[in-house]
This record gives sequence, structure tokens and C-alpha cells, in this order.
Amino acid sequence: MFTEDEYIQLSALQHYVFCPRQCGLIHVEDVWHENVFTVRGDILHEKVDTDTYETRGTLKTVRGLRIHSTRLGIVGRADVVEFRKPTNADGSPDVMPVEFKAGQPKDDLSDKVQLCAQALCLEEMMNTQVKRGAFFYGKIRRRVQVEIDDGLRKQTEEIIAAVHEIVSQKKVPAAQYEKKCRNCSLLDICMPKAMNEKKLKGHMNELYVP
Ligand code: SF4
Repeated sequence: MFTEDEYIQLSALQHYVFCPRQCGLIHVEDVWHENVFTVRGDILHEKVDTDTYETRGTLKTVRGLRIHSTRLGIVGRADVVEFRKPTNADGSPDVMPVEFKAGQPKDDLSDKVQLCAQALCLEEMMNTQVKRGAFFYGKIRRRVQVEIDDGLRKQTEEIIAAVHEIVSQKKVPAAQYEKKCRNCSLLDICMPKAMNEKKLKGHMNELYVP
């Protein structure tokens, strides 16, 4: 069980999947910098995070719900949580988180991990089992459903543990320049190419020590 001051933000999981160093810079060093991708995401979330709910027939939709897990030490906000009737066979609530994304489905795990972490929070808070979640992607204007299966749960819990390690040890991972760095909002601050060159220079110096 984690105490509240040990909680990490759900957003840290996505940052970690994108780049462990980015996660460390944001969640240990408190560095943040907007770029076109982060601004697009914020605009979409502003439209969703309204702390409201509505009921239509058997479906209740809650927006901007605060969620957490004491077992995993995570906290955040779910864009939308849908509650359906009838409830599950055991009487527990039928719950589904829905995340809004500005772009389109990604090949990497980042979005799915965030959604699964939301499902794990909702399970603990509502004593139920969340079997599925969904994304609404702004670019393709379509909803995509995701199964919260055992494999995804395991990967998500491993990533949560890795982020806790970075944050509790206050250890920002070293930079490694890759193609994705060109889309990183922290590129100018991180300077991964310069760090690589510095490392290379260090190795060269070691090799030529008389
Ligand atoms: S610039 Fe590259 S190495 Fe640095 S934080 Fe961004 S993705 Fe990670």
C-alpha cells in the first residue's frame, strides 16, 4: 500500500513508455515544455474535463472523474467513465473508462497502459472487474475498444513499478538519441545528441589515456 505522498500521476506512465528519461525529467525534475502535440492533447482534454455527468437510458456517463489506487500508488483523472445497467452477474457495477486522444491509434503501448491503469483504479475503488475500456480518437473520429486482459495488466503493473523506482530514487535515466526525440517536447532541454557526443568523447579519452 502506498501513502498519498508516494502516489505517481497516471500521465507518468505514458511519459515512461514514450521515454524513461522524459518521465524522469517531468516527474523528478519538474521540467515541462509545450509543443504542438501536447497543446493539441490539452485542447481536447479541456473539452472533456468538465466534472459533469449525464444519464441516458441504461447508461450513466461521468466526466473528469478523480481516480486512484492505494495498492499501486497511482492517481489521476479519467476523461469519461461509463456505468451500464444491468450490473455484472455478481451485482458489481459494469464500468468502462473512455479516454479521448487527439491523434489516431498508436503502435506503442502508451495509450493502452494509461487506459489499463485507469481500469485498475476503478476496480479497486468500486470493487468490480473492468474487462474493457475504449479510446475516442479525434483524428479518425472513431471509438476503439480495448480488452483489459492479463497481458496488458501485467505490463501496466511493471511500468507502474518502474516509474515508482525513478520517482522514489529521484534518478533521471540517461539520454539516448532516437527518432522519437524529434517529436519530444523536451528535446531542447534534454539535448540527447550533445549527451551522446559527450559520452563518446569520454570513451575516446579513456581509450587514449597514455
Ligand atoms: S529528447 Fe529523446 S531522450 Fe530526451 S527526453 Fe525526449 S525522447 Fe527522451
